[in-house]
Amino acid sequence: MEYLKKFESFSTGICDRCGERTDGVTTMSIFNTDIICMKCEGEERKDPDYKAAKAAEEAEIKKGNYNYGGVFPDYKPIKESEHIEFLTDRDMELDIKDICLELIDTNKITFEILKIRNTKMKCIGIISTQQGEFWNFYKDTALRLKDYLGDRYSSFWYEKRTPFGNRDKKNEHLSESLEISGNILGIYIKYRPRKFTSLV
Ligand SMILES: [Zn+2]
Repeated sequence: MEYLKKFESFSTGICDRCGERTDGVTTMSIFNTDIICMKCEGEERKDPDYKAAKAAEEAEIKKGNYNYGGVFPDYKPIKESEHIEFLTDRDMELDIKDICLELIDTNKITFEILKIRNTKMKCIGIISTQQGEFWNFYKDTALRLKDYLGDRYSSFWYEKRTPFGNRDKKNEHLSESLEISGNILGIYIKYRPRKFTSLV
């Protein structure tokens, strides 16, 4: 299937990724639709996600989707990725658990990482085992998680009890200045895992 994406570029002669001259030989990125030089192509092959990205593309082509945009439209080469270099999803989960350790050690929460059904996303859940905790209890950990996840961070949610006694999840912009009043039953952070085998 590889030939489908390989072609000579006579248009710009400039690599979409590194901006260097291509000497006329280019290929399409396995991760997005960038037309890249062979040096950048070699870099892509070193990315731990390369195999999975290739498999995902082949699966899309099998389905007849020839306009597939790639698994990471905003792909950054691993060399330039500040946050998560050479990490597998499993490594990431261990780091995430590490960041949450202080909260886990209080024995006031349960910690979990769940796959979100029908998406390539995962969700970190930090859930109070008691009547809830104030925002200050969760805040540092939540901000550290967002910082760690970098461009893999997707969204932040918190859960409270409504006046009627039901549980209600709300989406908020997570930042240093975020204030939430009252008892919070749990917080949830959605993110894109390093491996996206669920796509294939
Ligand atoms: Zn290049």
